[in-house]
Amino acid sequence: MTLDRLPPIRDSLTEHGLTAKKAFGQHFLLDLNITAKIVRFAALPQRARVIEVGPGPGGLTRALIAAGAQVVAIEKDTRFLPLLDELAAAADGRLTVIQADALEADETALAGGEPAHIVSNLPYNVGTPLLIKWLTGPFRPASMTLMFQKEVAQRIVAAPGSDAYGRLSVICQAVSSARIVMDLPARAFTPPPKVASAVVRIEPLPTSPPPALIAALEKLTAAAFGQRRKMLRSSLKSLGGETLCAAAGIDPSRRAETLSVAEFLSLAERLV
Ligand code: SAM
Repeated sequence: MTLDRLPPIRDSLTEHGLTAKKAFGQHFLLDLNITAKIVRFAALPQRARVIEVGPGPGGLTRALIAAGAQVVAIEKDTRFLPLLDELAAAADGRLTVIQADALEADETALAGGEPAHIVSNLPYNVGTPLLIKWLTGPFRPASMTLMFQKEVAQRIVAAPGSDAYGRLSVICQAVSSARIVMDLPARAFTPPPKVASAVVRIEPLPTSPPPALIAALEKLTAAAFGQRRKMLRSSLKSLGGETLCAAAGIDPSRRAETLSVAEFLSLAERLV
């Protein structure tokens, strides 16, 4: 069987008697035009190494393989393994399926120590922890093209002063550049989730802040946004409050949501 001879995803699901399970955050993309479009937004180089989290019935996986990628797919739900084995058999040696929890996966080992891109229609329940892992952990993806709930996507790209601006915006923008490349209504998924979704393309900055600075930034943003309506002199009290702000040249009567990412980094530098 070759890739273009595989049955439609909906038929593969029926053949294997598979239905979506809420506990695994399963909302499938059955339209291969949509999955091909997501892969175009990923702008992968030729024969790119790609880690896909949660291949499920394999709609996005098929598009990645069709685009020439070498894919390692991590799926937690064992029920999908026989279906994914069929896909691997049609993938000309370019699909390896691993049964694991992506939160515990060692991406560097999975990528064989080579640079790798991450492309995923993320399970919503673990989307944010996975993103934080890829932004701040030891494995630095070459790029990430990720589907999130729209509200999370908006938080990732939010600018200072907006309601969506918070910890996720600061941490993500301190280490990468991120933009929303595609919006998807709930009806694009089977079964449809309660909310709309969006695809975010994230590219790590060429030089990333050292791990100690990122750790300080995480501590700082937790305190500052934990009490986002309070002035910094009060929300950052346990980290030095007025003295810390003075050292970074920042007015302590400002509130967290008004600080730029550069200003947060400048405060974090004083905590390292
Ligand atoms: N990629 C498929 C698609 O686009 O149709 C499925 C996407 S569905 C939103 C999320 C997938 O992630 C499901 O297949 C689910 O079983 C899997 N999953 C959920 N939690 C996971 C985890 N912790 N590690 C790996 N896969 C997980």
